[in-house]
Amino acid sequence: MQHLVSPVGIVHSCFKEKFAIPRQPHLAPAARGVLELLPPFDQGDAVQGLEQVSHVWLLFLFHQALEDKPRLKVRPPRLGGNQSVGVFSTRATHRPNGIGQSVVRLERVEPGRLHLSGIDLLDGTPVLDIKPYVPYADSVAEAHNGMADAPPPLIPVDWQDAALQQAQQQALRLGQPLVQLIEQCLAQDPRPAYQQPQPDRRYGARFWDLDVHWHYPEPGRIRVLDVQTATT
Ligand code: SAM
Repeated sequence: MQHLVSPVGIVHSCFKEKFAIPRQPHLAPAARGVLELLPPFDQGDAVQGLEQVSHVWLLFLFHQALEDKPRLKVRPPRLGGNQSVGVFSTRATHRPNGIGQSVVRLERVEPGRLHLSGIDLLDGTPVLDIKPYVPYADSVAEAHNGMADAPPPLIPVDWQDAALQQAQQQALRLGQPLVQLIEQCLAQDPRPAYQQPQPDRRYGARFWDLDVHWHYPEPGRIRVLDVQTATT
């Protein structure tokens, strides 16, 4: 049986590419975005009551990871990318129907727009449904997960002086917690686990309209090198 679903909204996110997005929500509380609702849900009626809710579930499409042929096993980055496990035991993006789910903080509601933080969503992500988080039902005190029992370990992040000044200036222009966003995302160590970072290798990712570059002066430590306005 086939059933068609269509998005209720599109996320405008601080994350303009997949690299360096945290692997789950809340890992970067400074990650912000706006969920713009599509007609007919862009009217106040559709969000009435949400002002009483601190967090929402978003069900969304991994629109940049859709595949024709379903996988039975995947290699999650969390396990270093070299261990193969059943697709339903992971939250991998490559999955049947390409559906993702995240609990995110609802900062503010207005007709047609939900202001969100703590997101792990790429810019342009189509959202299929929105549901209020219900603490008594959704928070399971005795739950455990042997493959992902704690948040990923953080690594220290420091700045070249000029890069920090660039980030502080751009934060003022954007009206966003940019320094925190960069620190929180890079502390997750976005580099693929199989790569040994050489000090002369520069890594980069786009946050808002900015290209951020960093390197590893030594394994397990990141230094931000520059924060430049994106040109392409
Ligand atoms: N919290 C969700 C879940 O459990 O279903 C997503 C988990 S998934 C491991 C998180 C990763 O999905 C992010 O690090 C990002 O690289 C990727 N991602 C986010 N939005 C995406 C999109 N629209 N299309 C493809 N990949 C996306």
